[in-house]
Amino acid sequence: MTNHELWQAVLGELELVLSKASFVTWFSQTSLTMFENNRVVITVPNTFVKAWLEKKHHTTILKTLQNISSQIIKEIAYKVDDVRFAEGLSQQRTQTVVIEKAAEQVAAQNQAMEKVTNKFGLNPKYTFKTFVVGKGNEFAHAAAQAVADHPGKKYNPLFIYGGVGLGKTHLTQAIGNEILIKNQNKKVLYITCEQFINDFINAVRSKDVKKFKDVYRNVDVFLVDDIQFIIGKQETGEEFFHTFNALFQEDKQIVLSSDRPPRAFQGLIEDRMCSRFECGVIADISLPGLETRIAILETKCKEKQVFVDREVLIEIASKVQNNIRELEGALNKVIANQQIRNIPLTKDMVRSILSGYNTAPATRRSVTATQLIETVANYYGITISQVVGKSREQRLSFPRQIIMYLMREELDYSYPSIGKEIGGRDHTTAMHACSKINREMESDAKLQQDMDYIKQRLYN
Ligand code: ADP
Ligand code: MG
Repeated sequence: MTNHELWQAVLGELELVLSKASFVTWFSQTSLTMFENNRVVITVPNTFVKAWLEKKHHTTILKTLQNISSQIIKEIAYKVDDVRFAEGLSQQRTQTVVIEKAAEQVAAQNQAMEKVTNKFGLNPKYTFKTFVVGKGNEFAHAAAQAVADHPGKKYNPLFIYGGVGLGKTHLTQAIGNEILIKNQNKKVLYITCEQFINDFINAVRSKDVKKFKDVYRNVDVFLVDDIQFIIGKQETGEEFFHTFNALFQEDKQIVLSSDRPPRAFQGLIEDRMCSRFECGVIADISLPGLETRIAILETKCKEKQVFVDREVLIEIASKVQNNIRELEGALNKVIANQQIRNIPLTKDMVRSILSGYNTAPATRRSVTATQLIETVANYYGITISQVVGKSREQRLSFPRQIIMYLMREELDYSYPSIGKEIGGRDHTTAMHACSKINREMESDAKLQQDMDYIKQRLYN
């Protein structure tokens, strides 16, 4: 048997006992280059593989070699092949692409999972059990738990607000899931505000508003996510108000979530609706601290039934600070890497895996004019083309002035370039807008608050 034949036979055995990924990663570029006096040299493409084979596969290799050669092996040396090492580098790059692809697949699977809902619109994975409580969300959590324990009695409506990806949907759905666990006969309905709007528009179109009312006014627990989308929707807003009142009067539990507090709805929706939002309990969710982020990652690992080293989790949690959805995305990417490479990851590897993540909080400089325009338009429930368009309607011109003011204050734009960005306006228009908003900021507390919320969103 030549060395080559011997090694091929060994590989044949190993292929049966190892996972495919593991086998390809660690053995595809190895060869047996010496077998003398019961001593063996195995040539490997790089130091990485060398260390790994020595540490993890040595015993298996030894046993298999002895079996096939029917000899006692005294020593196995793993030697790095320098020529192949250079080639290996380029292969590693190919491998990275494969890993990226796999990470995308994991993410897609997760997204599909997120869409799994039962007939109440609830995803069973969002429960109190899987919700990690920390400083930023403890009040919201306690209020949600109280609502789930005594629906319709304690806090009605419960209004939960907070930034993107901080757990509003999770908490809102946890209420619904918990109520159903306790009592399957409760009519729980979870819906996003956008679904409500579409449903209503369709009902009107198909002249079926009665059926619509029958459904919505006959629930025990009404959970409406992302209620800010009601801004600018006149007719649906009206219908929502009546639905709200009908349920509220019968002590049915209502939970609303939003990316801004009720106060920030003032002037954007009808006053009577606004005061309804405020009449129960208002709870905010703010950014979780490092400890909470680590705890969340630990919970997610348990859910996914995978083990990730705590050091690695700390590394992820330190990098991704602004959004728990992104935090989970980063974790998925790391897990995919770990599974495909079939090795525990080091901190450095994690760093390079997450290098594409925009992790640190945004600074003034890193925000673009487009982002600013988008944020403000979104805040006021209007479109970008409306805000840069010609109309002088107050509901459009006011946000437009806010944008000009913020471009000046936050991005240090000149007046002419502000005018240019905002639909090719004259620089005097920009000057006028900035000084007007400046004046109003001094005396208008509501505007000051709005400005704070807008900035928070811009920089988070
Ligand atoms: P929002 O609705 O505020 O944009 P989500 O509720 O969709 O955010 O949360 C985004 C992701 O982060 C979800 O996968 C959710 O499970 C997770 N998440 C958010 N907060 C927590 C938490 N406190 N504990 C565990 N997971 C959380
Ligand atoms: Mg949400």
